[in-house]
Amino acid sequence: MTARHGAGLPAAVERLVAPFGGWQALATAGERIAVKINVLRGAAPERAVSTHPETLRVVLRALKECGAQPFVADSPGGPGATALVLRAYRTSGITAVCKEEGVELVVADADVTELAAPDGRLFRSFPICRCFVDADAIIQVGVVKTHGLMRLTGGVKLAFGCVPGLAKAHLHVRAQKRTAFAEMLLDLYLALAPRFTIMDGIIAMEGKGPGNGTPRALDSLFAARDAVALDAALADRTAHERSDIHVLAAAARRGLIDLSHPYALAGDPIVADRDFTPSFSDSDLSFPGRAAGLARSLLTARPRLVNEQACTRCGDCAAICGVGAIELSPTPVYDDDLCVRCFACTEICPTAAISEVTPPLMRAVNTLRRKR
Ligand code: SF4
Ligand code: SF4
Repeated sequence: MTARHGAGLPAAVERLVAPFGGWQALATAGERIAVKINVLRGAAPERAVSTHPETLRVVLRALKECGAQPFVADSPGGPGATALVLRAYRTSGITAVCKEEGVELVVADADVTELAAPDGRLFRSFPICRCFVDADAIIQVGVVKTHGLMRLTGGVKLAFGCVPGLAKAHLHVRAQKRTAFAEMLLDLYLALAPRFTIMDGIIAMEGKGPGNGTPRALDSLFAARDAVALDAALADRTAHERSDIHVLAAAARRGLIDLSHPYALAGDPIVADRDFTPSFSDSDLSFPGRAAGLARSLLTARPRLVNEQACTRCGDCAAICGVGAIELSPTPVYDDDLCVRCFACTEICPTAAISEVTPPLMRAVNTLRRKR
């Protein structure tokens, strides 16, 4: 549905949740609800890096009116050090909103437990920040962004922020291929089973998301109990082929969604924004033998230091890299043979000094695919 971050936002969110029975059907008095936001790193709200604080405010007020006890939490990228997380919350405007609304803001990484994923295809358990496991329910409030690895940050991907700091790097290492990572995300999402997901596309991020892209006004809000269905709507709005979104392809393989189905959606009809810039991430082409190395260098995006001046030599990128592909010398130097292209380093760099760089040939291939 259409909306802006202004005076009309509360009414727009009311209209968004109405088809689900309204907030009264989503929250019960006395329930402790984890409002899982997306704070990739500290950045001003208008940059669309993190959940917009005004959208969060509307959700918190609605939950409080139901008599529920919401708290706000995320595990941003990076080592999860409390001071860094608090700074990211503050810069993103989240701290101020929680304070004004009298809602607890949790540094999720502080306490970790193991969550069983009995129906997982790839993973049977996950390290999870305890606050999400102990909550009566999780409601996700994210922002629509492109994603170098998964192509879109949608409702399923949002659950990855329930995994604490550096444990994310281990999951990247254990599920290196995009298809495997998507399967892992589905296992995680299904195990966490968030009750409801809102994705804010009022100002989305296009291009080099989820951290270094460009804000783009889609003027749209999305919500669903089923984040897989929600992600299909995001794909449609951002003019992606549903099957190109790895999480959706994985969900289709499991029979969780029929990608060809023209779902009956509540709310405004979805109009594809054909000018939306995708992430230009790699295709999943695979080549045999020696051709593989050449194809990898010509056809795969890779992380690179793109702004040496901005690098503070903090070492967060090297710390998050689960395969040891980054050496600080004194700024990051990449070993492309070791790098599995998870792009976790680009996500967590606090100064956007590193970014995903796509070889010209791959850019041309992606442009052609998009025009087809
Ligand atoms: S590139 Fe970014 S994360 Fe890496 S050392 Fe420099 S500032 Fe830190
Ligand atoms: S260098 Fe960056 S993209 Fe490559 S494996 Fe390490 S964290 Fe992932």
